[in-house]
Amino acid sequence: MQPPAPHLPVVLPVDAVPPSKKPYVDPVTLVHKDLVRGPFWQRIPAYREVDERTFLDHAWQAKHSITKISKLLEALQGLVSAEFIADADQGFRHAPMSVRVSPYLLSLVDWSTPYTDPLRTQFIPLGSRLLPDHPKLDLDSLHEQEDAPIPGLTHRYVDKALFLPLATCPVYCRFCTRSYAVGVDTEEVEKVEIRVNEDRWKRAYRYIASRPELEDIVISGGDVYQLRASQLEDIGMALLSMDNIRRMRFATKGPAVMPQKILTDDAWVDALTRVVEKGRTLHKEVVLHTHFNHPAEITGITEAAMNKLFERGIFTRNQSVLQRGVNDTPETMTLLVKRLGHVNVHPYYVYVHDLVKGVEDLRTSVDTALFIEKHVRGVTAGFNTPTFVVDAPGGGGKRDAHSYEYYDRETGVSVYQAPSVKPGEFFLYFDPLHQLSTAAQRRWTSGSVDEQSVMIADALAKAKARLR
Ligand SMILES: *Cc1c(COP(=O)(O)O)cnc(C)c1O
Ligand code: SF4
Repeated sequence: MQPPAPHLPVVLPVDAVPPSKKPYVDPVTLVHKDLVRGPFWQRIPAYREVDERTFLDHAWQAKHSITKISKLLEALQGLVSAEFIADADQGFRHAPMSVRVSPYLLSLVDWSTPYTDPLRTQFIPLGSRLLPDHPKLDLDSLHEQEDAPIPGLTHRYVDKALFLPLATCPVYCRFCTRSYAVGVDTEEVEKVEIRVNEDRWKRAYRYIASRPELEDIVISGGDVYQLRASQLEDIGMALLSMDNIRRMRFATKGPAVMPQKILTDDAWVDALTRVVEKGRTLHKEVVLHTHFNHPAEITGITEAAMNKLFERGIFTRNQSVLQRGVNDTPETMTLLVKRLGHVNVHPYYVYVHDLVKGVEDLRTSVDTALFIEKHVRGVTAGFNTPTFVVDAPGGGGKRDAHSYEYYDRETGVSVYQAPSVKPGEFFLYFDPLHQLSTAAQRRWTSGSVDEQSVMIADALAKAKARLR
């Protein structure tokens, strides 16, 4: 076949298209490329007068982020019903997380449908939607503190560790796994101390340097967006200077909730760039890990931010949390994955929601994760296809959701092993009760601890019977 001549028009008449076995795809259906642009924030009464320059200023975004429930409810006056406001007020009273919502995020919510909006769902709790916690849920379900030689340094896997230099974030997410530590104390939860503390950091560095098997450090939090540029650079350079360290990832939700910082906080982006470049000269990998959950979180502003990082050679991966009513359909997850690829962010993981206090309405079952995974795989490049994982409660680490030893869809109990992390142990994940049959729900909630033990013992026995 002749290669097409360079002067051919871009849009060919249909009869000139070479025959193909694949049905023709209308370009207007490629909606992953349609990003929100223009002054969308001006729909919100409080930001009606805000021009683009101001809205792109990260300092303005941070300063105008809402941290008081009363202020949030005030900003929503006129956008939502009084009934909704009362509902949100009730929701916050029972929430384990603090509140912080950026103007950017607030502007991306479709306030004409506040009850079902996927962004509202992630950041603003509603009293009417709260469900009782699963009877087997405890606060630090991943047991990060048990695997921590120093507060804020979790050494669970052999060759990698998780370092939490601080406890604050540019937003607070309802579903946060680290609600035991992140944010300020709420009426429901008194937090573990992992604030910025150079002495604690030094103890962490000494530990990391003393362990030759450690090669890879995840710097998370909290959120590295909240580190000062000099702090980010100090941490990066300290780790790069250790012979054993080969890789590190700075984890931040920032690009998903405040991409403005990448565009206008030159000191911070330059500090990150210097660490990445220093790493490159040492043949060590320094990357960014971020956290988009829904395709509507990726806008024209995000694209500009990710383009800037891409131009600087800063590689970015994404981790999502599977949440009911947010991204728990094949259509939404596929669109998210395609859109992430479009802005050069590699989808890395989708987490089955951890057993977190106070957010049972957001959890969904392992079965849902497997169903969505089946639809997403094959949609795009394999390296842009996320692995669906269960972070095994009790400290087993991340396991491929499919790799359970046994899964009882009736009781919602799945059993995992983690031979490379905690050999010989069994880890249990529990689907949320609202996904189970009425009969199974009754078994869990009858108040009989014996009945719960029977379900768990049964799943464990069946898992053991299958072991090789
Ligand atoms: C997630 C995590 C890591 C990194 O795991 P990867 O699977 O390599 O992304 C390291 N330590 C802890 C404690 C973690 O939770
Ligand atoms: S940004 Fe990350 S660490 Fe912070 S509240 Fe959200 S999920 Fe938790």
